[in-house]
Amino acid sequence: MTRQPNTSLRYGKINVYTCQTCRRDIVTIDIDDGVTPFMVTCPECGNEAFSHCYEVNQQLRPQWEWFRPTEDQLVELTREELAAIQANNAAPVTITEDDAVLCNREHLEKGGLFLRSVMPRPSAPSAPGPGPEAGRTA
Ligand SMILES: [Zn+2]
Repeated sequence: MTRQPNTSLRYGKINVYTCQTCRRDIVTIDIDDGVTPFMVTCPECGNEAFSHCYEVNQQLRPQWEWFRPTEDQLVELTREELAAIQANNAAPVTITEDDAVLCNREHLEKGGLFLRSVMPRPSAPSAPGPGPEAGRTA
């Protein structure tokens, strides 16, 4: 009866952003609850990539994930963001790191998620860890 806010029900959902310039598909997954933007910057060419609003094949394998950073991660990703902007622009970045962190914190407080490369996860059968016998002494 009450309508769900759009900050829920997206946990674990796959989305695709398609770049309008190079047509690259950016496959993302939401690993935390929160809101994601309609548009992201294409990591390939730096132009606009638009959301398919989760109306995509949910079996796609994501390369990027939307997550909710801790305070430390927030500061770190803000630094990386500024460095990336600096690297891609001839003009110097005019925003200070403190201002950028404040801006990102506000985004986070409004329920906004942040994008990062998918972390390697042990989904594939990996090398077996120490079994119960590992501690056995000869
Ligand atoms: Zn592109």
